[in-house]
Amino acid sequence: MANQSLVDVAVVSHWIDGAERASTSGRTAPVYNPATGAVQAEVALANQDEIDQAIASAEAGFRVWSTYSIAKRQAVLFAFRELLNARKPELARLVTSEHGKVVSDAMGEILRGQEVVELATGFPHLIKGAYSENASTGVDVYSLKQPLGVVGVISPFNFPVMVPLWFVPIALAAGNAVVLKPSEKDPSAALWMAKLWKEAGLPDGAFTVLQGDKLAVDGLLTSPVVQSISFVGSTPIAQYIYETASKNGKRVQALGGAKNHMLVLPDADLDLVADSAVNAGYGAAGERCMAISVVLAVEPVADDLVAKITERIKKLRIGNGAGVDGVEPDMGPLITDVHRDKVSSYVDIAEADGAKIVVDGRNYEVAGHEDGFFFGPTLIDGIPTTSRAYTEEIFGPVLSVVRVSSYEEGLDLINSGEFGNGTAIFTNDGGAARRFQNEVQVGMIGINVPIPVPVAYHSFGGWKKSLFGDAKAYGVHGFDFFTREKAVTSRWLDPATHGGINLGFPQN
Ligand code: NAD
Repeated sequence: MANQSLVDVAVVSHWIDGAERASTSGRTAPVYNPATGAVQAEVALANQDEIDQAIASAEAGFRVWSTYSIAKRQAVLFAFRELLNARKPELARLVTSEHGKVVSDAMGEILRGQEVVELATGFPHLIKGAYSENASTGVDVYSLKQPLGVVGVISPFNFPVMVPLWFVPIALAAGNAVVLKPSEKDPSAALWMAKLWKEAGLPDGAFTVLQGDKLAVDGLLTSPVVQSISFVGSTPIAQYIYETASKNGKRVQALGGAKNHMLVLPDADLDLVADSAVNAGYGAAGERCMAISVVLAVEPVADDLVAKITERIKKLRIGNGAGVDGVEPDMGPLITDVHRDKVSSYVDIAEADGAKIVVDGRNYEVAGHEDGFFFGPTLIDGIPTTSRAYTEEIFGPVLSVVRVSSYEEGLDLINSGEFGNGTAIFTNDGGAARRFQNEVQVGMIGINVPIPVPVAYHSFGGWKKSLFGDAKAYGVHGFDFFTREKAVTSRWLDPATHGGINLGFPQN
């Protein structure tokens, strides 16, 4: 890691009251360019005073934004969509500079986020209530869906655009004001989007960015003004968020970590499987919650599959995600040197537990980027399922192969894990695939699709320790999460139907 002077680097600030707000907390954290290892900025870490300012501004913003008509809110969403669509190349480069993923992959996450903005533009259809005329004689019953108020969104480093966009457009469409606490590792995309919301016509205070660490998170979790928390990050923090926010009376959805398995049946096309395993295992250097980290090969295909995956790994180009001389590599660096060392330690554990390291990405160097946080694609064969390198999330470019003798043995391994985010089956047997989708205890399933992230009008979320709470992200779940329903029973009194005094329970 470069040990560079911090004196001249920019400080990434908060966005409060529709403008950048410089921090006075005196606390900052470094923001690296992971490809070079250089500190390229500092990010403000909010103190309690700044947390209070952000929440107060959002409260005021909610009072304004929630009175905008549906048509005016829709106009803002359409304008945001147009601006995002036009300027996304700039945002993609910004993401790459702080996250490290290759620019085309940054563009991919923006497109998946834009998909949710597009869904949200159609929000009137999704938040309109229902009306039952004459439920009882002269009595009508109807339901209204109202915004919650100020809502908190806390996002992870690995999707600095897409994950905020899983929640923000839907929350805003429903009339809420949002306080976003981005990851302190890549905080600039949130600020970039804040400027875009303002340009799109969103009133000040309706979207706030609070930069910070645990203090800012705890400020949102305990504030009586904040009505809900949408969190995405690692499982231990997701569990903490769920418990703390619930204890403080909030609605919570907390999406956690993953360990996604790909089950390969012997009838599958092994070239398709090897391509998919490499794409899903090493894309974004494995820093995706839907990355495939374990291939369960139902024998006798394991030897062939390991050979095919190895052959493909050898052709991968690893380098600066921004590209060099206009040429983009396949895979960039990891987010920090600390994380790279943690990933490396898992390969050490696998080796010590008796696994074979078929391709070893430890101590990987990219010429000209010797201080970058690179880790080479790694393939592990024969990992014992008791090894911590098998049971825990590694979150790096490390793919493990486990050999199983049957579909049932593979299914049992998937179902006995603590996570349930994503999984995939590769087979040409429709009956087996159908059985798998029924029997597997996982929230998102791919059938010959390695990264089954649902489209915006379905919802995203895992089972078990991959999601705390009962609302998934976006789709119908998103609109339900960000609205509160009221049921109104109404009668316009007239003497003929009044009925006089009656202390009994109302009946139809
Ligand atoms: P993280 O849990 O370290 O951080 C997530 C957020 O929580 C950040 O904003 C961070 O500032 C905050 N935070 C960190 N420690 C905290 C603490 N002690 N108290 C309060 N807040 C705290 O996660 P990360 O490293 O940024 O992201 C990677 C993780 O996110 C992986 O585990 C990955 O699987 C998971 N993830 C899950 C999904 C999903 O949809 N299930 C999607 C993306 C990422």
